[in-house]
Amino acid sequence: MLSFDAVIVGAGPAGSTAALCLARAGARVALVDRRAFPRDKACGDLVGPRGVRLLEEFGIEVAEARRVGDMIVVGPSGRRALLPALPGADYPDHALAVSRLVFDRALFEAAVAAGACPVRDLFVGLTGDPLTPGGVQLAAGGELRADVVVGADGATSRVATAAGLVDARRALWGFALRGYVDAPVDLPHILLWEPEPWRLFPGYGWIFPTADGGANVGLGLAVGPDRLLARQAGERFDDFCGYLHRQGLLPAVRRGSVPLLGGWLKMGLIGTLPARGTVLLTGDAAGLVNPLQGEGIAQAMASGRAAANAILAGRPDGAAACYRESLRTFTAHHRINAPVQRGIVRHPGSVSVAGRVLTAPLVRSAVGGAWGLYWNDLVRGALPGPHRAVAAGTTRLASALALRPGRSRRT
Ligand SMILES: Cc1cc2nc3c(=O)[nH]c(=O)nc-3n(C[C@H](O)[C@H](O)[C@H](O)COP(=O)(O)OP(=O)(O)OC[C@H]3O[C@@H](n4cnc5c(N)ncnc54)[C@H](O)[C@@H]3O)c2cc1C
Repeated sequence: MLSFDAVIVGAGPAGSTAALCLARAGARVALVDRRAFPRDKACGDLVGPRGVRLLEEFGIEVAEARRVGDMIVVGPSGRRALLPALPGADYPDHALAVSRLVFDRALFEAAVAAGACPVRDLFVGLTGDPLTPGGVQLAAGGELRADVVVGADGATSRVATAAGLVDARRALWGFALRGYVDAPVDLPHILLWEPEPWRLFPGYGWIFPTADGGANVGLGLAVGPDRLLARQAGERFDDFCGYLHRQGLLPAVRRGSVPLLGGWLKMGLIGTLPARGTVLLTGDAAGLVNPLQGEGIAQAMASGRAAANAILAGRPDGAAACYRESLRTFTAHHRINAPVQRGIVRHPGSVSVAGRVLTAPLVRSAVGGAWGLYWNDLVRGALPGPHRAVAAGTTRLASALALRPGRSRRT
């Protein structure tokens, strides 16, 4: 049986980053994925500023990526607010638009070039008790032995289930669909859309520029623990394209003519324990998606690196505690905003009002900078100034509301 220091299941941004960091440090690492690369993945294809910074740190240049800066939020009344892209102390003033075919392959190839051993197979179970070093069973019948197993197999992680680390009934689920349309778009637009007056869609839609000059159009919603609600994304997609057309953001598209790909998002770390014994969960497997706006690539990469560092730091059975501790910094935003997100979904009428207020003239120019920092989890590391002051104040207020006794127990 082949034996490794670590087996990583899933070669998306989380798994490939973990494999890259481990292999560069000289560890013996297997990188298992059921798919061959390049492989597609439903996504808005925007890698946020923290992800861009990690790429720079790793020395990975992604060909065919396009820089995008400011973002527009279209409020429920159709008014637009500009969220300026502000540089931070530890992140740049832009994101990258790049297809997941290209982006995930670049990370995967970097990990393999660093020495990770690629294995194309389906993970079906752990070989033993997750508390002690064991390994993984693969569908083709083989087993890989390892001191540590890293679950990087996405939102519906089988590693998390096999290790008993997730309660899927409690998790904060989201679902989103995306399609590509051959239409130019200058800036990324997020749309707070009302299919019926004063009844906000319980998520948001987007139209983002793609690296090749087209548009990535998507619609996503928070469904909480009730995953059946996800069908609303498909039922409403054509209506949403009609709305984009009326907003002047998209040419008319025939109903049902845009090929769609969907995917689950697991947000806010709810219902998931990120590590125990010799099993560590990273990225979507750990539920690290931003509960406010659905970003998960940067968190996947950061958690992949944190898992690698925890494994390299000492004994395999100490890695879980070390990893959980390191996650605390970048999950603070999640702990605050998971309850905020639940509130948003439960009170669409109030959110319609808030969306109108925030995108109203005068208000929008006053809050746009802070809104961008808060919504995109960029307050930590933001440069001093009025935008950071307002965003930090909002964080304190949301924290006081979200983490008050009783509320924190329920979430
Ligand atoms: C429609 C949509 C739009 C999104 N837009 C954005 C965006 O614009 N920006 C952003 O930052 N985030 C976005 N996200 C979130 C982002 O896609 C995820 O957070 C990110 O992909 C997480 O990376 P990961 O490595 O944890 O998991 P994944 O990228 O899901 O990778 C998991 C890997 O595990 C493999 N795998 C799964 N099960 C097994 C198994 N049993 N055995 C072997 N291999 C397995 C899969 O083949 C896959 O390669 C979006 C999500 C959706 C659904």
